[in-house]
Amino acid sequence: MDNTPLPLASTFVSVLQQVLGAPEKGFSLHEPEFAGNEWKYVKECIDTGWVSSIGKYVDEFERCLATYTEAKHAVAVVNGTAAQHIALLLMGIGPGDEVIIPSLSFVATANAVAHCGAIPHFVDSTERTLGLDPEALEKHLKQTTERAAGGLRNTLTGRRIAGIVPMHTFGHPVEITELLEVAGRFGLPVIEDAAESLGSYYQGRHTGTFGHLGILSFNGNKVITTGGGGAILTNDSELARKAKYLTTTAKRPHRWEFFHDEIAYNYRLPNLNAALGCAQLERLEDTLARKRQLTERYREVFQSAHGLHFVEEPKDCHSNYWLNAVRLIDPSMSARDILLSTANDAGFQCRPAWTLLHKLPMYASCPRAELPTAEKLEASLINIPSSAYLAELSR
Ligand SMILES: *Cc1c(COP(=O)(O)O)cnc(C)c1O
Repeated sequence: MDNTPLPLASTFVSVLQQVLGAPEKGFSLHEPEFAGNEWKYVKECIDTGWVSSIGKYVDEFERCLATYTEAKHAVAVVNGTAAQHIALLLMGIGPGDEVIIPSLSFVATANAVAHCGAIPHFVDSTERTLGLDPEALEKHLKQTTERAAGGLRNTLTGRRIAGIVPMHTFGHPVEITELLEVAGRFGLPVIEDAAESLGSYYQGRHTGTFGHLGILSFNGNKVITTGGGGAILTNDSELARKAKYLTTTAKRPHRWEFFHDEIAYNYRLPNLNAALGCAQLERLEDTLARKRQLTERYREVFQSAHGLHFVEEPKDCHSNYWLNAVRLIDPSMSARDILLSTANDAGFQCRPAWTLLHKLPMYASCPRAELPTAEKLEASLINIPSSAYLAELSR
């Protein structure tokens, strides 16, 4: 790699310093925060013995999630990947099917497809949102698919294309209305990967509530955490019932009998984790407000950083700004890596976007569209420290 010092790298670090000050121990990318009733609720689980798969906090967490997102139903599960796995199964996705996903995403988006025995099919993203590009999607589907007896067929592979999974990158909502329109024209269900976008809205409506099903993640690095956890969102009561059933071993309700009528999953969220989640949700608005203050400050200061572009929420959207990001105006993997190493050496934990999924060995031979924008974004995106508490340093 080229190690020549880059003026852009010093600009980058000096902006971070201007916003956050000099790091004493270093600033990590995103830290969880436990400043409310977390300890009290978790202690209560332990004191009462209700630590495991049943307990009041699971129900309470589901109720609060549904209220907050205005989804009719939320089903809490053990993590976001499990939520996605079940959501895909509920849409009838199975072995040999192809599922459209962005190549620019976290590996879980593809893994959940593979867990169904299905095959990820990668489509390009747009610079407008960092998510799936509705125009590229429509063009690709027009050119490479045909209507067949079993649904939409990929004319190159002969396989059925069975669904679309848009993902709201770093919390920025995708153009979900346009994507739903394209999906509708081709008869495909939409499962929203809203793992990163709790607290993000597209035209006033919460992300994850537009598709047939949506999923959230509460991993330790997300906007709120349950340690590990996830949820399935849906407005369809029958799908919600099935999601609960399939994630809790498909047990017929009975006072003592164990009778299960399907090969199902133990994807339950333990009560302990749900307790943490309830406390985290109580402070979500405050967390988001402080994250937005930090974003404002970054936005202001990055304006004078030539060569760098601060990523802002898309038009008509309200983003949770889960991870703040900048883009190199001239995409270059080597320049990106110099900025990353310079910033990390200076104590600012910064990360590139994910390696594009079609470049990972297990997905390298999957079908894909042309991915010029995803390639450009991969070579230009850098995530910068985004924890809510950093807002207090940045005044
Ligand atoms: C975090 C995340 C998930 C789910 O992750 P879990 O760690 O399984 O909760 C899924 N998709 C995306 C895009 C994510 O960022």
